[in-house]
Amino acid sequence: MGLSYQSKLVALISSVFISITVCLYYVLTLSLSESNLRDIEKQLGFTSTLIDDQLLDKTEDIIYYSTQSSSISQFSNQVPTLNQERMLLRLHELANEFRADRALLITKGLTIKSDTYIQKNSPQNFPYPDIRDHLETNSAFQIVLPMNDVIYHWVIFPIQSQNETLWLAFGNEIDKIFKYALDNISPLNINLSFAYEMPQSHWRYPKENFRLLGADFEHAIQKYLHHIDEKNATQLSIRQGNQVVFMLPLIQSKNSPKIVAILIYSFSESFKPYLTIIYKVIGLFLTAFVLMATGLILINRKYKTALLAIVRFVEKLNEGDYQQRLPYHGKGVISQLSTLLNNMIAKIHLREKELLHKTRYDPITELPNKSFFIEQLTKILQAHEAKQLAVVLVTIHRFPQINHALGHRVADRLLHHVGARIVGAFEDASFVGKLSGNVFAMILTDVMPSDAENISDRILDLFENPFSVYTVTIDLSAHVGFSFYPEDGDESDILIQKSDVALFKSQSNAEHFAIYDASSDPHQFNKLSLMSELKEGLQHDEFLVYYQPKVDLKTDRIIQVEALVRWMHPYKGFMSPNLFIPLAEETGHIKKITAWLLNQTFAQCALWEKANIPLQISVNLSVKDLLNRNLLKYINGLLEVHHINPNNIIFEITESAFMQDPENSLGAIKKMRNLGFSFTIDDFGTGYSSMSYLKNLPVDELKIDQTFIRDIAQNTKDAQIVRTTIELGHGLGLVVVAEGIEDEAAYELLKTFDCDIGQGYFMSKPVALSELEEWLKTSRWGLPTISHK
Ligand code: C2E
Ligand code: CA
Ligand code: CA
Repeated sequence: MGLSYQSKLVALISSVFISITVCLYYVLTLSLSESNLRDIEKQLGFTSTLIDDQLLDKTEDIIYYSTQSSSISQFSNQVPTLNQERMLLRLHELANEFRADRALLITKGLTIKSDTYIQKNSPQNFPYPDIRDHLETNSAFQIVLPMNDVIYHWVIFPIQSQNETLWLAFGNEIDKIFKYALDNISPLNINLSFAYEMPQSHWRYPKENFRLLGADFEHAIQKYLHHIDEKNATQLSIRQGNQVVFMLPLIQSKNSPKIVAILIYSFSESFKPYLTIIYKVIGLFLTAFVLMATGLILINRKYKTALLAIVRFVEKLNEGDYQQRLPYHGKGVISQLSTLLNNMIAKIHLREKELLHKTRYDPITELPNKSFFIEQLTKILQAHEAKQLAVVLVTIHRFPQINHALGHRVADRLLHHVGARIVGAFEDASFVGKLSGNVFAMILTDVMPSDAENISDRILDLFENPFSVYTVTIDLSAHVGFSFYPEDGDESDILIQKSDVALFKSQSNAEHFAIYDASSDPHQFNKLSLMSELKEGLQHDEFLVYYQPKVDLKTDRIIQVEALVRWMHPYKGFMSPNLFIPLAEETGHIKKITAWLLNQTFAQCALWEKANIPLQISVNLSVKDLLNRNLLKYINGLLEVHHINPNNIIFEITESAFMQDPENSLGAIKKMRNLGFSFTIDDFGTGYSSMSYLKNLPVDELKIDQTFIRDIAQNTKDAQIVRTTIELGHGLGLVVVAEGIEDEAAYELLKTFDCDIGQGYFMSKPVALSELEEWLKTSRWGLPTISHK
């Protein structure tokens, strides 16, 4: 675990602080030590000469004063008469007068008659007989001598008492003289001590002091003292580290003990004033440091609180709270950050709203899209908001055609208008959305299957008036599919899917609306199991080919049959192709059906060719077949097996199948036509019907979709369309087929329209081969008499 931000900061500052202090200390000591020690040496040398001078001054003062002072002469006269006590008293008075620390009265024989140091005088000898030489001169002199372990500077001069010469000695403690001098003259703090020689060259000095200086010093000092004669008593300074020892030999008389003043200067002493500065600086630093640390902690705490607030802010953001704002305003970093975050969140909010809108709304109609619709339906179903409801899907009739003819810009605008009309008219709808391309969806609550027709009428009313988009006016109609809750399911996916099935049904049956009907729902079976059953069914002869006659309307005789597949499911029973063909196309299983069917029809064709029965067979091809690279090879193989004339086979393809991949489809069609096969456009009118494509499509027939044919006799509009289409087909050199003829009226009408071929229940439903053969014999549209063979 790492240190906290706060501890790191404190550690950093303390280390900076410590390094600064250490640096300061070293810079000061380094700069002080060398130069200062040299200065100090000089000062000590200077001090010693000053002391010498002072001693001399003192001597001269005393001597001069002694000649002037009447007290000396009075004392000289009184001496013979004074008893010990009185003499000592007088001597004290003199010592006071001459400001001496000690006074002695000495005889020529060096007996001390009186001594102010010793209160009760008993005659004693002066301990340095060597001074006799001085006494001989009969004049004043100075000398430094220790007495009673005290070193004195003595000024000794003769006095005349009756017939005897006596000597007065005034002594001043040399210690005091030095101290006075050092205090007044030198600012240095110097440790002063003295060493003096005792009999047998034995030196007395404060050993303890020197020992403290260290063995090297002591040794050097001893060496100096013992060789002081030879060196002729010169000064000496010894330096080591922070210490300087300065030795100063004091004025000597021959044969008197040698005395040396030892001045010790410790550099650390001189460093003291600086140390106090350093201490002050350290103190200042320390105070500053404490203040800073406290400040830091406080600031840090402030930042920590702010950062924590920001963390909480971001957490809430994560949970989707975009309303919150950070409360920091101003110029600080936190405030800037908080302003940035606040701005950012506002932008994110806006962008998310936009994004959400994009993911939930269809950009063309601005209506809720499929996922939003499902979400809403799920909500309503889960909340049990309604006891019953309908999922209503609305699609525009022949919208792909319109899209193609008018272009996407107009078509998109049109979708927008349709959406707006639906929303405007169905204020009672719980929700309106757009599921896909041109499929609108509505949730209507509290309605049941019996309301479907009513609702469907309301929807179709919306399409009564034409739509005008830009400058174009467009007539539209619609298909409506219904599924109901709870009848068809209680899940949104299922309800939508079932409504979609119903919508598909209404489109394929050309009805205005359809209600979901389980019995005709191709999706009601499990897709996967159905498709695996389909594979098995093909192997187990569960499939049959039904044939539906196509009649030549000029001769009223059969000319073609359309081959339509049938599945006798072992336990689901008879299955309409509408139940499995779309699924087989979706899953690619159609290729197997097609292969099977082609084999069957080619074989049948071969039989009819052999029997001279002039029947062409039309076979439906899905887009998957058309784009199947192996199809051509397969058909070539079949041709080799069955030896049929390709002119007898017509392939039916729908426009929408073709449009899925026009380029490759075109290639396949061309190759097959080169082999001699013909092509029909199936379900013409329900797909794109692009005239430009139609013009270039290499087909032979046009099969008008049954939705146009069925009511042709009743519906003049349809009749008009069919008539025009027939003319158009002929114009393009195509054979025109009408599919879905259910009554005579239609049949007759189409004849008058000059339609070439007719197909429909009126003539015959698709039937099994045996039934067809019967029909061929008995029907009024049966084969022409074989006579013209
Ligand atoms: P389609 O190709 O349009 O076939 C014509 C459909 O219309 C047939 O339905 C036929 O029974 C029906 N029909 C013909 N005349 C009339 C009429 O006068 N009134 C009414 N109401 N219906 C009529 P079917 O056989 O149920 O086939 C439905 C669809 O299944 C076919 O439509 C076709 O797209 C597909 N299909 C059928 N067999 C095959 C096949 O072998 N291969 C492929 N690829 N599709 C097939
Ligand atoms: Ca067909
Ligand atoms: Ca058809």
